[in-house]
Amino acid sequence: MNILILGSGGREHSLAWAIKQNPKCDRLIAAPGNAGMAEIAECAALNIEDGGAVVTFAEENAIDFVVIGPEAPLATGVADRLRDAGILCFGPSEAAAKLEASKSFTKEICDACGAPTAGYAHFTEAEAAKTYIREQGAPIVVKADGLAAGKGVIVAMDEQTALDAIDDMFSGAFGGAGAEVVIEEFMEGEEASYFILSDGKNVLPVGTAQDHKRVGDGDTGPNTGGMGAYSPAPVMTDDVAQKAMDEIVKPTVDEMAKRGTPYQGVLYAGFMIKDGQPRLVEYNVRFGDPECQVLMMRLGAQVLDLLLYCARGELDQAKVEWADDHAMTVVMAANGYPGSYEKGSVIGGLEALPEDSMNMVFHAGTKEVDGKVTANGGRVLNVTARGDSLQDARDRAYAMAEAIDWPEGFYRKDIGWRAL
Ligand code: ATP
Repeated sequence: MNILILGSGGREHSLAWAIKQNPKCDRLIAAPGNAGMAEIAECAALNIEDGGAVVTFAEENAIDFVVIGPEAPLATGVADRLRDAGILCFGPSEAAAKLEASKSFTKEICDACGAPTAGYAHFTEAEAAKTYIREQGAPIVVKADGLAAGKGVIVAMDEQTALDAIDDMFSGAFGGAGAEVVIEEFMEGEEASYFILSDGKNVLPVGTAQDHKRVGDGDTGPNTGGMGAYSPAPVMTDDVAQKAMDEIVKPTVDEMAKRGTPYQGVLYAGFMIKDGQPRLVEYNVRFGDPECQVLMMRLGAQVLDLLLYCARGELDQAKVEWADDHAMTVVMAANGYPGSYEKGSVIGGLEALPEDSMNMVFHAGTKEVDGKVTANGGRVLNVTARGDSLQDARDRAYAMAEAIDWPEGFYRKDIGWRAL
C-alpha cells in the first residue's frame, strides 16, 4: 500500500522507520520530512495544516493510508477532510482533538466520566482568577486553556508567581490560548506517560515512557520539547496501568463516543502517580516526541498493522507482540537550545553508526546540504537504542552519541537517571 506520513520531526522519522519495515508498505512518502526520512521515503513539500491540500496530494499520489504525526494538522481538522474524502487515516477528528487543544474541555470530560485528576476552576476574567488563587494559596498551577506549545503552564510554588502568571496570560502574551485559564490543584508524585490506541470503541495500550523536559542534567534549566526518553516506565507497574485504563482512559474513550465524537488515534496520557494511584495531568492526541522514538524502537514493523486496525475500527482484532526489552533515546540539540541557536552546522560521523533493529539515529531538525547532514532546528538528532535492560540500551545510545562529531551540539548525560 501507499502510505503518507505528515510531519518532519524525530517522531515522524521513527514512525516512517517502523512502517517501512512492514511488507505491506510499498511506497512511503513523508511530507515535508527531513534528511533522515529522505533515506527511507520520498519527501514532498506540502502545507500539512491545509486539509484541502493534503486530500489533493493524497488523491494525486494514490495514497491508501495517511498517518498524521503532529498536533497542528489534527487541530485544524485534516483527519476530518481525509475521512470525508474516503481516505483511510490515523489521527483523531478536530472535535476529538479538543482533548489536547482545550484544557477546560479535558477537565469537563474528566468530570463527566469521573476520571481522577487535579481539582480545578476555569476563568475568563483576571480578577476572579486572582481571588481564587488567594483563596487556594500555593503551590498551585496556572494553565492557558489552548495550545501554547508547552509554554502555557506555570507551576507556581508561591502565590505571587501564580498572580503574575495571570497577568501574563491576560496580557495577550499567549494569543487566543491565554484568553481562558484553568487553575489547578498542585499534584505531587512521579510523572509517566501511557500510550493507548483507540478506534473510538476499543483500546489497546502500546507502551509507557518517561521523558526529560528540562534542558540540563539533574532536571535543571528551562523546559524544552524533551531531551530524552525511555520505555517502559518502571513507575507504571501493571497495577497502576490497569487503574489508569479502568478509571481514566476507558471512561474517557466511552464519554467521547457517547458525545458523538469518538476518539480514533493514539491517546498520549500524562499521569501523576502517587502511592500507586494515577491521576490525569493531560492528554495529547498524538505520539510524544521523543517518546514515540522509543516506542517505535520497541514495536518495530508491527506498528503499521496496529495503526491500520485502529484506523479501520478493528482494534479488537489487534494484539501487540511484546519483547522483554527496553529502549532509550538521547536528544542531541543545537548549542543554545531552547534559547536562540544557529542553523547550518555540519554533523559528522553518522555514516559509521549501526542502523538496525537495536540502534537508530532518528533525525529531527536536519537538512541535507551538498550531500552533508546539517543542523536545521533546535532538537536535531534522537540517538536511540534497544537492549535487554535499560542499562544496556543506555550504554549503546550514549556510545553512539559520543561517536557523533558535532561540536555545535550538546546532549544530557543523565537520561534514565530515575530508573537506573
Ligand atoms: P506539554 O504538552 O509540553 O507537557 P502542556 O502545555 O500540555 O505541556 P501540561 O502537560 O498540562 O501542559 O503541564 C506541563 C507540566 O506541568 C506537566 O508535565 C507537569 O510536570 C506540570 N503540571 C501540570 N499540571 C500539574 C499539576 N496539577 N500538578 C503538578 N504539576 C503539574
